[in-house]
Amino acid sequence: MSKLCVVVPAYNEGESLREFHARLAAVFDQIAGKLAMQCEALYVDDGSRDDTYAVMCGLREADPRVATLKLARNFGKELALTAGLDAADADAIVVIDADLQDPPELIPAFLDHWREGYDVVYGTRSTRAGETRLKKFTSAAFYRVMERLSATPVPRDTGDFRLMSRRALDALKRLRERQRFMKGLFTWIGYKQKSVVYERDARFAGESKFNYWRLWNFALEGITSFSTAPLKLATYVGLGTAGLAFVYALWVFGKALLLGDRVQGYPTLMLVILFLGGVQLMALGMIGEYLGRMYIETKQRPLYLIDELMPAAQAEQTHAGKMPRQPAAAGVN
Ligand code: UDP
Ligand code: MG
Repeated sequence: MSKLCVVVPAYNEGESLREFHARLAAVFDQIAGKLAMQCEALYVDDGSRDDTYAVMCGLREADPRVATLKLARNFGKELALTAGLDAADADAIVVIDADLQDPPELIPAFLDHWREGYDVVYGTRSTRAGETRLKKFTSAAFYRVMERLSATPVPRDTGDFRLMSRRALDALKRLRERQRFMKGLFTWIGYKQKSVVYERDARFAGESKFNYWRLWNFALEGITSFSTAPLKLATYVGLGTAGLAFVYALWVFGKALLLGDRVQGYPTLMLVILFLGGVQLMALGMIGEYLGRMYIETKQRPLYLIDELMPAAQAEQTHAGKMPRQPAAAGVN
């Protein structure tokens, strides 16, 4: 029997959890009845300061399908998610927020696509109730910038709400970098991905833990984890400055030749300052290029992940039965 595991990171969600689990449990009943899948909910307490963990334990005692995981302190959503995903052992893994902004009722639709053969099924928000214009605007701007700068563009209006197949999860687990921009990592692994559009509700209770300062840092994290474009900036600013300096130098120099050097030493001084400034920025940019490469190298990401490796027909005959046509998640570094 295949197994579904729903990973739910929660930080100070005591008020929402019971309602959340009631809705999730109803979905579980439906799935267990229709698809004969074993269902499990894994609640991750990210060092909450309210009664979240007590509520989780209550749920675990009342429902045999509930597992709980408590982190030592508040590590932030990305790491809480990672901890949950590391602990999850299932054929299909769903990630969902505990605040009921993402409807658990969508999980059966995710499962349908998973059974069709998709490895990642993610929810795309068509509306975002209860969110301010400014938040919608900044979020839209962020996705545009990411698209321009990064080679792994994150799909727009997509949160962490998604389903992953076991091999997609195994792939994700191999990305052990410390600065974890999950949306980017989810996309980085590739495989067959499918989007399901849904309407995002307002929070059930409590308030968002992501204020603008946190969102700004989150955006910086996304851009710097998936692009080294900012490091290249110095090169271009330097080139620009050096170019402008050159043009300006011609002018200052020409003027000095025609009208004489009225302020003694000014033209040469200006020239040297501007030129050196440009050259220095360019040199910084070059260092930036190497630094960027080193940065990428230190992440130790696997070089690629294999979608499917089909043995030659010949080999298949000799190994008939022994070698199932198994997609290898274990790509070679
Ligand atoms: N969360 C977490 N650790 C944190 C902050 C948030 O586990 O440090 C959880 C939170 O409990 C919720 C999910 O991450 O289940 C999304 O958080 P939130 O609703 O505050 O984010 P938003 O929906 O506003 O982006
Ligand atoms: Mg939320």
